[in-house]
Amino acid sequence: MYFKAIKEEILKSKRIGLSFHTSPDGDAIGSTLALLNALRYLGKDSYIISRDVISDNLSFLSLSNEIDGSITEPKINTDLVIVLDCGNVDRISADLSNYNGKIINIDHHISNENYGFINYVDIKAASTCEISYLLIEEFGISFDDKTDIEVAIGNAIYTGIVTDTGSFRHSNVTSRTHNIAAKLIESGVDNSKIHSNLFDNKPFNKVKLMGSVLSDIELVLDNKVAILQIPQGMLEDFNLLNTDTSDIISVGLGIKGVEVSMLLKEVKDGVKGSLRSKNNVDVRKIAEVYGGGGHIKAAGVMLKDVGIAEAKERLLKILKEEMHL
Ligand code: 5GP
Ligand code: MN
Repeated sequence: MYFKAIKEEILKSKRIGLSFHTSPDGDAIGSTLALLNALRYLGKDSYIISRDVISDNLSFLSLSNEIDGSITEPKINTDLVIVLDCGNVDRISADLSNYNGKIINIDHHISNENYGFINYVDIKAASTCEISYLLIEEFGISFDDKTDIEVAIGNAIYTGIVTDTGSFRHSNVTSRTHNIAAKLIESGVDNSKIHSNLFDNKPFNKVKLMGSVLSDIELVLDNKVAILQIPQGMLEDFNLLNTDTSDIISVGLGIKGVEVSMLLKEVKDGVKGSLRSKNNVDVRKIAEVYGGGGHIKAAGVMLKDVGIAEAKERLLKILKEEMHL
């Protein structure tokens, strides 16, 4: 029912802008590029609105070159903006302050603010890419034909599924996730190649940065919390300003006995905190205390105008209470 309403809106729109959450990950980029490829194939005038530029490991996706940070607000005559994978209006990687047209919000975050005129929020979806897949099917693209366009769309969807599920390991994975992945592989998506593009493609300096971050890893709160830090200047030192560093956090979670891994990255106006949980600690709650959000086992928060030591102290205080330590 909802997909029909979205389809109708798309079909009657003249010009469509697509955006996603700031610092976009594989799911934000994948769900958006899948839809962009589909809309172009359908002949719709559609384009990316983004303040962010594509990170290197996602630049193999079709039309990813259009995520270059050059269009930051809707172009003239845009009558529909579709935002994917973004729960909060202030995290959209687009300046919509002068835009009065319609917004469709497609997402899977439980904390979604329903800021659209249509809101399709499926919190059971492991990734927004699963929703993109179902929407694109609604347009009659069947993933049965192994055509170039189906493979291009499929690659983008598969990418977001892999990145948002930790390569099918997180508890958000359902049989639907696997069914969609299976269908994509049948339709010509090369899963192994996508994994290589995503994970076996690091700049040498990224591995050295990881070494540097890991050599300073700390365990606190009865060794149940791992802390990883990327202080200001480190990314410049390694010449990695456009490189995603969020994957380093999973090393902390890989440690025996660790329940929560925390990555603190000093940015120009504060500290970006990322949190991951192995079992029962709801890290979204911790992030929300300081205005962040996300999912139970993966959440993030931006702590403005503080240094890394202060950010650490604030997050640990709440974690300590939440973990009853
Ligand atoms: P990451 O730590 O990889 O940036 O984000 C993990 C999850 O938390 C993602 O689902 C992401 O969308 C969400 N998230 C990250 N940072 C923020 C934030 O500042 N605010 C909100 N609401 N969600 C965030
Ligand atoms: Mn997502």
